[in-house]
Amino acid sequence: MKNIALVAHDNRKIDLIEWVKFNWGELSENKIYCTGTTGKLVEKALSEKCKEHNCKTPEIIKLKSGPLGGDQQMGALITENKIDLFIFLWDPMQPQAHDVDVKALLRIAVLYNVPTACNRSTADLMISSPLIKSDYKPVLKDYSEYINRNV
Ligand code: PGA
Repeated sequence: MKNIALVAHDNRKIDLIEWVKFNWGELSENKIYCTGTTGKLVEKALSEKCKEHNCKTPEIIKLKSGPLGGDQQMGALITENKIDLFIFLWDPMQPQAHDVDVKALLRIAVLYNVPTACNRSTADLMISSPLIKSDYKPVLKDYSEYINRNV
């Protein structure tokens, strides 16, 4: 079971929910983490699909809404190695009130080498990768020299 994080800005939520409905089977075998509003929509979509197909709705952890600290909570989960896969459909056409949080979240996802998709095509390739069913662990850069530096 993987821990999959799903976050979408308002203009990308329809996209994400379409993607979730298409990939409900794969998603339902995993644990899902979402920012607040995204989580409500994902939960509705997955519970409908799972009801239709007589399966159990996966566990969906809803953090705070992104602009209210949810992005920072997601970043903290990444630093604790609790996220295996991150789908983050951020809006390339509109500035966000929480732009600094968005940037921080993307930075921490790159720093921790978490597979991160910022558009649907990358999300499609990630979710269909054979590695998703393996115990694939991204290589983590060794920061001990930095941590133990003399200051
Ligand atoms: P939301 O947050 O899921 O609560 O809308 C998304 C975001 O803006 O990061």
